[in-house]
Amino acid sequence: MEKSVLSVLNGYPQPLIDQVRQLIDQGKLGERLRQRYPQTHDIRTDRALYDHVQALKARYMRSAPPLSKVVFDGTLRLTQQALGTHTRISRVQGGQLKAKREIRIARLFRLAPEPMLAMIVVHELAHLKEREHDSAFYALCQHMLPDYHQLEFDTRLYLIDQDLQAQTTPTTQPGSEPEPASSL
Ligand SMILES: [Zn+2]
Repeated sequence: MEKSVLSVLNGYPQPLIDQVRQLIDQGKLGERLRQRYPQTHDIRTDRALYDHVQALKARYMRSAPPLSKVVFDGTLRLTQQALGTHTRISRVQGGQLKAKREIRIARLFRLAPEPMLAMIVVHELAHLKEREHDSAFYALCQHMLPDYHQLEFDTRLYLIDQDLQAQTTPTTQPGSEPEPASSL
């Protein structure tokens, strides 16, 4: 059970993974995260998310192609390790080839700490310019969010904690909104 939960940390150094395992065994992972990231956010609707992403794009990526859609998506699941997606649909419109771009953010980020939403938004925005997870991609992420790497790691810890809570408590967590069964 725990092994699969920790699979979102694949690729990170083993000593770091061992530390996380220790925190989990001590039952302290959630507490650590709440201490470190007490701040929530009020971006709860697709409209608010769209505005938020557009503002960031206007600030850092003005020249990137326009976004046609930005939404929270309840079908993106941790098991697929897809926290967000970006799609590019090309179609011919008025004799011109137009690329339509969409960003979908996993619905669990509605209730996540603000810095973690910022991380996933920056990640998907950066994909408008850089497709691969290469050094140019991460440089762009860090340009928009200097603490990007730490936040990506901590977001993975947050997902592990959510996963563990879901396994131990089948009902709604106190302090969180009820989520439909189809989402995380
Ligand atoms: Zn990516």
